[in-house]
Amino acid sequence: MEKSAEKRRIVLVPVAAQGHVTPMMQLGKALQSKGFSITVAQGHLKQISSSSQHFPGFHFVTLPESLPQSESKTLGAIEFMKKLNKTSEASFKECISKLLLQQGSDIACIIYDKLMYFCEAAAKEFNIPSIIFSSCSATNQVCCCVLSKLNAEKFLIDMEDPEMQDEVLEGLHPLRYKDLPTSGFGPLEPLLEMCREVVNKRTASAIIINTASCLESLTLSWMQQELGIPVYPLGPLHITASFPGPSLLEEDRSCVEWLNKQKPRSVIYIGLGSLSQMETMEMLEMAWGLSNSNQPFLWVIRAGSILGSDGIESLPDEISKMVSERGYIVKWAPQIEVLAHPAVGGFWSHCGWNSTLESIAEGVPMICRPFQGEQKLNAMYIESVWKIGIQLEGEVERGAVERAVKRLIVDEEGACMRERAFGLKEKLKASVRSGGSSYNALDELAKYLKTG
Ligand code: UDP
Repeated sequence: MEKSAEKRRIVLVPVAAQGHVTPMMQLGKALQSKGFSITVAQGHLKQISSSSQHFPGFHFVTLPESLPQSESKTLGAIEFMKKLNKTSEASFKECISKLLLQQGSDIACIIYDKLMYFCEAAAKEFNIPSIIFSSCSATNQVCCCVLSKLNAEKFLIDMEDPEMQDEVLEGLHPLRYKDLPTSGFGPLEPLLEMCREVVNKRTASAIIINTASCLESLTLSWMQQELGIPVYPLGPLHITASFPGPSLLEEDRSCVEWLNKQKPRSVIYIGLGSLSQMETMEMLEMAWGLSNSNQPFLWVIRAGSILGSDGIESLPDEISKMVSERGYIVKWAPQIEVLAHPAVGGFWSHCGWNSTLESIAEGVPMICRPFQGEQKLNAMYIESVWKIGIQLEGEVERGAVERAVKRLIVDEEGACMRERAFGLKEKLKASVRSGGSSYNALDELAKYLKTG
C-alpha cells in the first residue's frame, strides 16, 4: 500500500567530487519535488551545506572524516576509494542510527553513489532499502560488468593483443574489447577489483542512472537483464530536476558578458572538467591552434590544471597575448549556461559524463580530448555512435587543433554534426516531458519508494 511521502526521508550519500555530487544533488531535487524529505550525508562537502540556500528543505549531516581527503593525492583515486570504503562503514552506521532516533525520521531508502558501497552494511543492519546511484553512463556500468566477468572467468584477454582489440563484445555492438575503459587508472588489478565492487549489487534493490534511454537503449536493456533489479534511467538529471547543480568552485560569470559580444555559433568553449590536468606543452599547442583557427574561444583553466604552473596568473606572455586578441579565460564557468548560449558553436571537452550530457542537451557538437578510460568510452560514443563530434587523438599539435576547430565550427561536416546533436537534444527534451522515458522512470521510482 502507498504510504504518504510527506515524512518519508531519503538519505543521499554522494562522493565528494564535482562530477558525482552534481547529479546526486539534482536527484535530491527531483525526489524532493515528488514529496520526499532529503538528507545528505556528506564527508568532505562542507561547501555544499554552506551554499544550502540552493537546497531549501534539505537536511545535511556530516560523516566524521574517516580518511583525510589529502590521501587521495598520495593513494590515487582507486586506492583512495577502496580505503574510504573500508574506513567509513562504522561511522555511517552510527550516523544512520542517530537519524533513526530522531523523531519523524522514517528512512525510506539510502541512495548512495556506486563508489560509496560501504553504505550497504548500514542498510542491511537497520533493514533499510538501498539503491545504487551511478553518475556514469550505462555503457560504462556495463563495461565494468564485462571486465569483472572476464576476470572472474579467467578470460581477461591480454589487453595489448591487437587481434582481440577490434573484436566486438558479444551482444554489445558496437563496443569492442579496446573500448573497455581500462586506461589512465594505473595497473589493471586494482581497477578490476574496483569494478568487482561497484557491480556487486549486494542488497541494493534498484539502480538509478543519469542517462536517458534514447542515448543508451541497448546497454540499458543489457544492464537490466544482467543485474535483475529495476534500472531507473532518469537523465539528464539537470533537466529532470530543472537544476544546474551546486558548484564547488566559484563561477566567473563575466564570460557570459563576453559571449554576448560574439557572433552566433562562432565560439569554441574549452572545458576539461573538474579534475583533469595537462602538460604546459600541450596547453601551448592548444593555444596556438586555437589562435590560428581564427575562431573566438572561451577557455576554462582551473587552478592546478596545468602541471607545473600556477594557472592563469602565470601564463606565458605569448599565451596571454593570443588570448587577449581572440579568446577569454576563466577559472570556472557556469558551464550549462555557457553551452546554452547562442554564441557557442562547439565544445572542446574531456568527455566526462556530465559534460557529455550537458552538451547533448544543448545540441552542441564536440571536439573530444579524453584523458582516461571512461572518458575515452564516452568519446567513442560521441564520435562513432551518435556522430556528433571529432576525436583529437595522439599528441596535441597546433595544426591538428586548428583543423579540428575549423571542421567543427566552420565546415559543412560540423554543421551536420550540429544537426544530429540538435536531433538528440530534441529527443532528450521529449524524454523528460510528461510521458517521456525519464519522466516515467522518475514517476516509477517515486512509486517504488513510497510503497517499498
Ligand atoms: N563544470 C562547471 N564549470 C566549469 C567546468 C565544469 O560547472 O568551468 C561542471 C560541468 O558542468 C559538469 C561538471 O563540472 O557538470 C564536470 O563533470 P564531468 O562529469 O563532465 O567531469 P569530471 O569533472 O567528473 O571529470
